[in-house]
Order: sequence, then structure tokens, then C-alpha cells
Amino acid sequence: MTEQTYSFFESVTKSFDKAAKFTKWEAGLLEQIKVCNAVFQMKFPIKRDDGTIEVIEAYRVQHSHHKAPCKGGIRFSEAVNQDEVMALAALMTYKCAIVNVPFGGGKGGIKINPRKYSEFELQKITRRYTSELVKKNFIGPGTDVPAPDYGTGEREMAWILDTYSTMRPGEIDAAGCVTGKPITQGGVKGRKEATGMGVFFGVREVCMMEDVMRDLGLTVGVEDKKVVVQGLGNVGYYSAKFFREHGAKVVAIAEYEGAIYNADGLNEEEVFQHRKKTGSILHFPGAENILVSSEALELACDILIPAALENVINGENASRVKAKIIGEAANGPLTPEADEILVAKGTLIIPDMYLNAGGVTVSYFEWLKNLSHVRYGRMEKRFTENMNKHIIGQIEELTGKTVNEQERKVIEHGASEADLVHSGLEETMVEATREIMSIWKANPSIPDMRTAAYVVAINKVGTAYAELGIFP
Ligand code: NAD
Repeated sequence: MTEQTYSFFESVTKSFDKAAKFTKWEAGLLEQIKVCNAVFQMKFPIKRDDGTIEVIEAYRVQHSHHKAPCKGGIRFSEAVNQDEVMALAALMTYKCAIVNVPFGGGKGGIKINPRKYSEFELQKITRRYTSELVKKNFIGPGTDVPAPDYGTGEREMAWILDTYSTMRPGEIDAAGCVTGKPITQGGVKGRKEATGMGVFFGVREVCMMEDVMRDLGLTVGVEDKKVVVQGLGNVGYYSAKFFREHGAKVVAIAEYEGAIYNADGLNEEEVFQHRKKTGSILHFPGAENILVSSEALELACDILIPAALENVINGENASRVKAKIIGEAANGPLTPEADEILVAKGTLIIPDMYLNAGGVTVSYFEWLKNLSHVRYGRMEKRFTENMNKHIIGQIEELTGKTVNEQERKVIEHGASEADLVHSGLEETMVEATREIMSIWKANPSIPDMRTAAYVVAINKVGTAYAELGIFP
């Protein structure tokens, strides 16, 4: 079957237009929400280690200025092009709006394969890119705040911060010019597990909705649900971990070399260690091998979590997917055609745009930490613990009974930075899920949860523009 192809930005626009029909905004305002407000294409030279000069192509797109700063990752990939960066920046606007992170969407990209450059060369490229952004006022804690994406991580974020601080000496909030930094450079605890944890919180909230579960023929809650996870990278690993810890059975895990199945459930950490030791996920003790990895997507299960690549479920295999719920942990794991086939079949697709927003939500917490210049929990942790000890002491004295040691530890505990970040993330994902579901329920002609999520995003950005009085 051949699928109609759209550029990435066109397909985002298509989903937007589908949802815009369910909103009240006039065409001009919808156009303003949809377009990219600023696109910065740059070319700059670097001297390679062998002495040759290479011209590097890079981008930073600010999709929406309805809130400041703009926010979005920077990717290093040979596939980077303007259309892709624009589409990713647009998705960031909608994602932030849905999870109530008060930023406009942004995205950056440098068209290189980072594996083909030495660390020194990568540092030169990252620092030059940052200084180009500074020159054009395309970076700063109040204007545009990058983060990691494909091919970048803490190391690059630390280089960006250092370059920015050097060029803007004395700027007291400089640490907030980029997120995803190492903890020692102003990063926040709880970032690593954030996306997988957010995926879990979002899916769990849907599983707590009695009417939704009844329509799908499932019981309420995640306990004993059969889960299949594709990709045992950062997002897949932590999604699997939180499902398992909350009583679900992760019956299959797929990696690119194959997949494994065990009806009694798999432990992601044991599988991870096995893969590290043997170089393959296959032949895990007690599990059956599935040699064609993509067949794992077609296993009978309650929840399927694609957490690897885009377009893995498409017009070819969608009709064979048996999961009742698909939690899009990866970006774009379903093609538009697969989406239509599965929605028609009654599968509930929890959309990527908000389900994998854990990363940006925790980035927001990092930015807040940087602006407040104090780590979460520093002021109140000890106070809470002392007060809790006092309360337990009083209860024990008044009742003549003693609290057991395990419970004492739980009750006495004052919130650490990671505790607060996790709790803020849980609140964010639960609220976003409820908001999308209530819009969907209130308007039964909205065909699916993805469209409902877009409606939520469009309404929030539309309201912000209308309130700003941009269109007098
Ligand atoms: P990652 O590189 O850590 O993990 C991806 C995993 O998928 C790897 O282990 C890889 O071997 C595996 N994989 C590759 N091809 C596969 C195939 N054909 N079948 C099965 N497994 C395959 O990346 P990640 O950070 O976990 O990101 C995964 C997805 O989630 C991406 O789409 C990414 O854009 C999205 N995402 C990530 C974050 C984040 O915070 N890391 C946030 C939002 C969205």
C-alpha cells in the first residue's frame, strides 16, 4: 500500500487544520498560531582537526511568540533541514500549551553527523552556533532556551551555557539560557527518568477512567495489564520500569536486533544487563525469542508503548496491531494512515504531543530553579523532617503505641529535589490528561484523542493571543 507523503511541517499543519475546525477562532488568528514567527538559518565556518575549513549549516526556529521564552531542543543530525526544524518547533508550542508550560515553541538543528567529528570539533561547532544565537538575540533565559535533542546531551548544554555567560558577563540569570545541563552546572535532579515517568503517569490516568476502560473492554487501573515496549533506550527503559513497579506485566520488549516475550512479565533492568553483557536482547533466560523485532508490535496486549523511532506503525502493519491502547512515547511512531486505521478499529491512541512531554516539563522546573538560584527542597526539607518527627513523637506519646521503623522513615521524610520534580511531573501529566479527555467528551464529534489534544493546544495559544490584544 502506498501512503501519501507530506513534508513533516505539512503533516503537522494537516493535524492542526483537522483540530482547528472544532475551535471558535477566526482564520487569521489560526494562521498566526500555525506559522513560524521567526526562522534563523545560519552558515558558519569551522577549522577541522586536519586543517581544512568546513561550512556548517544550522537553524534555530521560534515557532510562537505568544509566550516568552521559546523552548525546544537542539539536534545534531545529517537529516536536519528547515522544514523539520519548523515542524518540531511547532510541535513544541502545542506540547508546552497542553502541559501548561508557559513557553512558546522553539527548535534548533545543526546539519552534522556528530560521530564524524572529534570532541574538540563538536565543541567549536556548538560554541560558534551559540555565539551566532547570542548575536541575533536568539538565546537567553527570557527569549529562547534550548535543550538536548538527538545527538546532543549534557556536555553540549554545558558548552552553550559557558559561551553564553562569557558573552553576557554579569547576567545573573545566565544559567537559565539552556536546560538539560549537568547538575553541577545548574541542572535538576529527576530529568533522566522524566519522559518515561510522564508516559507512565499519562497512560495510568487514562486507565483510571472507568468509562474509557469500559468502552475498551478493560478493567480500571494499570495492575495486571499486559504491556509491550518497543525500544529499551532512555524512554522505553523508564516507561517499562514504572509500569512494572505499579503492577503491570511488561510481556515483551523489542530492540532493533529482535524482541523477547514472557507472559509472566520481564524486568527491564535484568533485560538491560543481559543486553549489555551479551550484545543482544535475544536469549534472555525464561523468555521466547521473536526474531523479527517489528512483530512484537502485533502481539496481543493491552498497552503498546512504541519508544524507539518514528513511523514504526504504518499502513502496512496497522491492521495487525492488537493493543487496545497505544501510548506514543516516541515522537511520531504512527503514520497518519496507521492512525486512521487504528482509530477506526477503536484503538485508543494517547498522542506523543503531550504523552512524552515529561522532558520539557522537567526542563521548565530546571529553568525555574535557575531563576530562583536555589535547589528545590533546600529551604524546607529539614524543617519538614523535624516537624514530622515531632508529630510522630506526640502521636506515640498520646496513644502509647509506636510507629514501625519502615513507616517512620516514610512519614519523617522531607521532600528532596527529585521528589518535588516527580510530584510536579505527576500533577502536570494527570491534569493534562484530564483536560484533553474532558474536551473530547464534551465534543463527541472530535474523532480521536490526538485531535482533542490539538484542540486544547489551539485554544490555549488562541486565548493567549486574543488576551494580548494582538489583533485590535
Ligand atoms: P534512545 O536512543 O535512548 O532509545 C531508543 C532505543 O530504540 C535504542 O535503545 C535503540 O536501540 C532502539 N531502537 C532503534 N531502532 C529500533 C527498532 N527498529 N526496533 C526496536 N528498537 C529500536 O532514545 P530515547 O531518548 O529513549 O528516545 C526514544 C523516542 O522518544 C524518540 O522518538 C524521541 O524523539 C522520543 N522522545 C524522547 C525524549 C527524551 O527525553 N529522551 C523526550 C520526548 C520524546
